[in-house]
Amino acid sequence: MITIGIDIGSTATKAVLLNGTKELYEIMPTGWSPKETGKTIVSRLLEKGHLRRAQVSKIVATGYGRDLISIAHKTVTEITCHGRGAAFLVEDADMVIDIGGQDSKVIKIHRSGRVIDFIMNDKCAAGTGRFLEVTAISLGLDVSELEQYHDRKNMVSINSMCTVFAETEVISLLAGGIGKEKIVAGLHSSVAGRVANMAKKLGVGSKIVFTGGVSLNGAVREMLKLHLEADVLTPALSQYAGAMGAALIARDMAN
Ligand code: ADP
Repeated sequence: MITIGIDIGSTATKAVLLNGTKELYEIMPTGWSPKETGKTIVSRLLEKGHLRRAQVSKIVATGYGRDLISIAHKTVTEITCHGRGAAFLVEDADMVIDIGGQDSKVIKIHRSGRVIDFIMNDKCAAGTGRFLEVTAISLGLDVSELEQYHDRKNMVSINSMCTVFAETEVISLLAGGIGKEKIVAGLHSSVAGRVANMAKKLGVGSKIVFTGGVSLNGAVREMLKLHLEADVLTPALSQYAGAMGAALIARDMAN
């Protein structure tokens, strides 16, 4: 049986195809048309697996753009899909910390992946990938280059609560001769601290999984551990947790 999960995120679209014990993955920018992106990513997965669309039993969509695509049999919230996907990626996980392009969420889960409780920040870009992207642009860096700046002993604290002000603060710190390594380390700590506070409100879990695109940033991963005073696990496919959850839910539906 073949199923597909698609996570149409604000920044990136991720998709997972499950075919028995075989799994295929695909990622691409969401772009201006989530509908087209949904179709393209499914075609790419099918091409990769030398499969035809008619062979796919069910497709489930999640993510902010889930209602904008037409190819899914069902749409499911990101919270449900992330819980399910994270539990699959890390056995016995009881907390998921997801930092994506424009939101961050902390989800308490049962070991089955069922959601027990959650807190979400989708009102403010501070503490999200967008916050880091804006900084990377002002510093002439790619987001993947930010993680090299992780020295907590050598950082400035970033006080702005909002991305727009943070950008201004970064520019004035640079103008004041503060090195980018200190600024970026401060931003990493600020993002990690905000999300850690959300986790503390829910009660820090004993097996914490870090998912979403920002989990690829090693500096945020380390600072999250320090803020939480707990270990944080980042599975290899951390950015695909939502899509994986959607593909597993599609498999349940098909069964
Ligand atoms: P969404 O689902 O909201 O589109 P994702 O979970 O896919 O978001 O995460 C996108 C974010 O991940 C980007 O805003 C960017 O900050 C971050 N990101 C993506 N790739 C990397 C990378 N290689 N290193 C660090 N951060 C990354």
